Amino acid sequence: MLILPEWLITSPREAPKRGWGVRVEANLITDLAPHRELEKKYPDDSVIHAEDQILSPGFVNTHTHLYGVLAHGIPLTKAPDGFWPFLKDFWWPMVEDRIDHNMIRAAADWQCQVMIKSGVTSFYDCLEAPHSLPGCLDVEAEAIAGHGLRAILSFEATERVSKANGLLGLKENFDFTSKHHGDEGLIQGLICYHTTFTCSREFILNAFEMANSLGCLVHMHCSEGTYEPEYALKNFGLRPIQYYDQLGVLGANMLASQCVQLAEDEVALIALRGARVAHMPLSNCEVGAGLPLCRNWQPLVSLSDLAAIATLITSLRSCAVHS
Ligand SMILES: [Zn+2]
Repeated sequence: MLILPEWLITSPREAPKRGWGVRVEANLITDLAPHRELEKKYPDDSVIHAEDQILSPGFVNTHTHLYGVLAHGIPLTKAPDGFWPFLKDFWWPMVEDRIDHNMIRAAADWQCQVMIKSGVTSFYDCLEAPHSLPGCLDVEAEAIAGHGLRAILSFEATERVSKANGLLGLKENFDFTSKHHGDEGLIQGLICYHTTFTCSREFILNAFEMANSLGCLVHMHCSEGTYEPEYALKNFGLRPIQYYDQLGVLGANMLASQCVQLAEDEVALIALRGARVAHMPLSNCEVGAGLPLCRNWQPLVSLSDLAAIATLITSLRSCAVHS
């Protein structure tokens, strides 16, 4: 079968090719060339003419919260007016703390369909639902498995509820990641915790030790608003990225989401240690977090956004506007 779009995108490192298409055999792309060349070479193939359309590899969303769609339409008497009230008065009590297994299953099922329709074929999800422990990642994985998407799943462990709940969250990640470690399947896990203002030093070091023993990444939210750097300066005498460096955990196995309120030297430290960053332009708008210092990031930054509020195409447009 031939697919002949207006534009063909083959890789992020090559310019889009106008008037090029692909040949597909079974589930493999076996050739790509200009339309006329393909039609001449394979005259007996069926042809899909995709005029005015772009054919590209699937998008990878490096940070989403599938359960976030459940926040849509919650009636509010007062809209949050910043990052901290957004968490304290809205997201924690009215969304995260209410999530159960049935909600996780339904939201994952719905969001997979939304992602497929918007061209996402791989994603990383961060489940925040402290009262859904244990077993919530298995529930989410079951819902995703039927859709054929590639996914890395995690539970956002936090000590904000209690120390015991935090440890249960880390165990959820460890057990799930161990189960899918070296798996040939489409679903894997990683270790995840919330932030420096909801997790103690010992807890963070414990998370990195678990990840080292499994050979996987550690994910956390970092300096999404001004609250975290102010908290870190007051309590540790350092900004969050400096604090992570002092703990000895800033490195290539660290995936930090948001990273909006960074100082210039924190950006340089991230680059020096080779840590990874997920950039989320629309999510930053949603909570009034601000605009990140993007200019030195390119080699290590991936694009993502809450599937709950947008498709990745909308995020790409937003990213272009920001830059
Ligand atoms: Zn997030």
